[in-house]
This record gives sequence, structure tokens and C-alpha cells, in this order.
Amino acid sequence: MGSFDLMPDYEVARNYDRCIACRVCERQCSNLVHEYSEEIGRMTADDSKCVNCHRCVSLCPTRALKIVQSDNTYKLNCNWTSKSIKEIFTQASTGSVLLSSMGNPEDYPVYFDKMTINASQVTNPSIDPLREPMETRVFLGAKPEKIERDANGKIKCNLSPQLKLAMPMMFSAMSYGSISYNAHESLARAAEELDIYYNTGEGGLNEDFYKFGNNTIVQVASGRFGVHRKYLNQGAAVEIKMGQGAKPGIGGHLPGKKIDSDISRTRMTPEGSDAISPAPHHDIYSIEDLRQLVYSLKEATDYKLPIIVKIAAVHNVAAIASGIARSGADVISIDGFRGGTGAAPTRIRDCVGIPIELALASVDTRLRKEGIRDRVSIVAGGGIRSSTDIVKSIALGADCVYLGTSALLALGCHLCRSCQAGKCNWGIATQEPELVRRLNPDIGYKRLVNLMRAWQHEIEEIMGGMGINSIEALRGNRLMLRGVGLNEKELGILGILHAGE
Ligand code: SF4
Ligand code: SF4
Repeated sequence: MGSFDLMPDYEVARNYDRCIACRVCERQCSNLVHEYSEEIGRMTADDSKCVNCHRCVSLCPTRALKIVQSDNTYKLNCNWTSKSIKEIFTQASTGSVLLSSMGNPEDYPVYFDKMTINASQVTNPSIDPLREPMETRVFLGAKPEKIERDANGKIKCNLSPQLKLAMPMMFSAMSYGSISYNAHESLARAAEELDIYYNTGEGGLNEDFYKFGNNTIVQVASGRFGVHRKYLNQGAAVEIKMGQGAKPGIGGHLPGKKIDSDISRTRMTPEGSDAISPAPHHDIYSIEDLRQLVYSLKEATDYKLPIIVKIAAVHNVAAIASGIARSGADVISIDGFRGGTGAAPTRIRDCVGIPIELALASVDTRLRKEGIRDRVSIVAGGGIRSSTDIVKSIALGADCVYLGTSALLALGCHLCRSCQAGKCNWGIATQEPELVRRLNPDIGYKRLVNLMRAWQHEIEEIMGGMGINSIEALRGNRLMLRGVGLNEKELGILGILHAGE
């Protein structure tokens, strides 16, 4: 059906004084935007196919290309924006749900940017992290409420299984299938080198990566793809995915065209068939049901692995987290509404859920009020962009953070938000062999290690500036934060004072 000739969002601007018609752009663009015209003897472009991934811009040897936002516009209307009009035209022509990927790009407040961090001045002197030890190690898992001693005064220690991280960050769940083999290998190798963890997502674990098991969190999602006893015992922890920040309340969908033989074997689903995970776990309708799954997984792993329960940040997140803490889970992972995805309905990605900053603060407050904060660790994710976002998350109550989009950016992602198409020009969100080869895991894992080490160093510097020498002392220390331009309600939920107070 006609689409009323949608105007392209982007235009390929080519400087013909610089272009040498080497056709690199033509070879590099999987969306077939560029083409050499024999007739006119120069390169041409079909702007309508461009997703603004910057692959051609980055690789053009003469810097002849740039991608510009089209300034072609419909008649100005503050209600019916160009975006709304185009979306309606698209759906009227396709009859389909709008699909997107990566995180929510809409203009909601970013609370991380409305909080500032404290620093020591005269009293409580700052600490120089280059000269004095800083403890960035974190242990995730239930902690005893109090220290008990035996008759001889020796500490009695019945510690639940713990995940030990060298720094307060991990790579969040990204399934093999949604991302490529080379992207997975890069994450696994980086996690091993950094002494942290990466997460299989809901796609199972390729046997090639079993060797990284000590640094792997294996996920159990509603579709149970690739879940079997060996898989569970291969990981260092098991994560039950109840929800995801990018698409709270719905399941997942990996299109059949992305399921090649290797992915079909790993997921235990038929090659070429869509892998659809249901919205709920069909055996979980209450906290009691969740508790049964938590203990089934503990049983299946001989009570040696911590169990994480991942939820999307939604309106009543604090009450949900309180139930999870009582279900026997060792760790709660909360995914804010800016969390990424390989594919999600656009309306859900952009309009469902709440920001991680508010969700995290309200969960930490509730668990503390109920006296059960030490029963679980909290991992915050969904839109964490820098070391300062990590410091602020920990001060709001997180034990550590999950990083997804920032890890993909380190691998070369340019946030074109077209992962659902499976034609990622950077070799990340694709299974096409010639595209996958573009991501060299030897380089990819080093870039991840660089980013994490740089952030670790920045975290040490910021903590030193506050006069704090351990993540443990920063956790939930909201006095270290001040709000700027926030109203009373927002300050109350975040549990922080306003700047100047
Ligand atoms: S889709 Fe990417 S590679 Fe293709 S023209 Fe656009 S920016 Fe260049
Ligand atoms: S992973 Fe690839 S397709 Fe997805 S946003 Fe990044 S560059 Fe685009």
C-alpha cells in the first residue's frame, strides 16, 4: 500500500570535491544506500534507506561524507509533529506495530543530570587514590544480619553464595542471537580479564563460551531458550528475567531470519523460526511461585550459585522488590526505562516504565525501612552512561550496575537504533557473517577493558574526593548527593537534599 512517500529523516551529504569514487561507502553500507552511477560517473545515494549509523562516514578515506538531519518539514504544528505524522503514515501503509531498538530516546528528565556529588574540603580530608588503597571490590549476595561468634569468640560464617566483582559494574544481559558471536566473545573475554561478569541474556550459552563460565551469569527467561542443567551449572550465577526496562510487561521476539544453525543449536529452537518468549513465566503468578523457581534453580545448582531476579522499573517497583527479597533471591536487578533492547515495540519502549534513579532510590528506601536490605544485593541498570552515573547509582543504594548500551558503544555501536533489522554495519546486532567479521573480538575486548578501567579509575578519584575509600561506604550514602532544580516530591523519592542545604 502506498506510504505517501515518507520524507527521509536523514540526507547523505557528499562533498564531490573530495569524493574519489573509491566505492568504500557502497561496500560498507549493508542498507544499500550508496551506488556508483556509470551513467553520470559518480556516487549517488538513496537517502530513504539510511539509518544514520555512520559506518560510511567513519570509513570514507577522504572524509567526503556526512549525514545530516533532513530539514524538510511538514507544516509546523506543536500537536501533530512531523514524527507523529510519519508514524501514522507508516502504520497506515504497513498495518504493523512500530518496532525500535536500543533505549528510550524521548525527552524525559534524566535525574542523574540533576544530582551533584559532594567533595571533602577542610574536615574529613580527601583521599589520594594514587597513594592510598581504594576498595572497589563488591560482593553480591545475601549478607548475614549480624555477626555471630562461637564459644571461642570465632566468627561463625554461613555466608550465602556470593558473586565477587573487582569493580562495581557488570555487562548486562544481551543474548547470542540479538548480538553477534564476536560481540559475545568480546564481552566474555573482557569480563574474564576484568574479574567481573557478563550475562547470556535469554539466548542460551554457546559451548565455545563455556570456558568463560566463572565470569558468566546465565539467564532463565520466560521462553527458557537454551536452559538445561549443564547450562545452569556452567555459570557463576543464575538470573531469572521477569522483566526488562525497554519492554516491561511483554516478552521477547527474535526473528527467524536471525536464527541460523549455531543460534538454533544454542537456543534449542528450530532454525529459521521466530523465537518468541511469552510475556509472563507461565509458572509464576505470585511471589510464592517465584520462590519455587528460585529454589528449583538453587536445587539444580547444588545451592552453590546466587540467584538474581531481574525486573523492569515500573510504578510499584518497591513493593515488588520487597516480595522478591523475601522469595529467597540473592540479588535483585532493576532495569530502568532507558535500558536497551535488540527489538521492542516503540510505544512500549518509549512510554512504559520509570527512570532507574527513582526506582532504585524507592527500592533501597523500602528494603531499609523493612529491615531486609541485607537479604539482597541490588544491581541497577538502564541508561548508565558514565562513571558519575555509577557513583550516583551506588549513593542511591545500588551495590553495582549493569552496563549494556555503553558496552556496545565501546564495541563500535553508533546508536542508530536499527538493531531489529539485523543489518548492523558495525558487526554487533547482526548474524550476517560478512558483517559479523567487521567486529574483531581481539580489539573489541580490549576496548571494553579500557573503558571499564578508565571508569574504575574515575570512580576511585571521585570517591577519594569525597573522603570515602570503599564502595561499601558509598552504598546508599545519599548525603553525598544534592539535587539541582528538583521539586520536593522528586527530592523526597530520591531521598536527597537540595543543593545549598
Ligand atoms: S546507513 Fe550507515 S553506512 Fe549506510 S549511508 Fe547511512 S550512515 Fe552510511
Ligand atoms: S548495535 Fe548496530 S544496529 Fe544496533 S544501534 Fe548499534 S550500530 Fe545500530
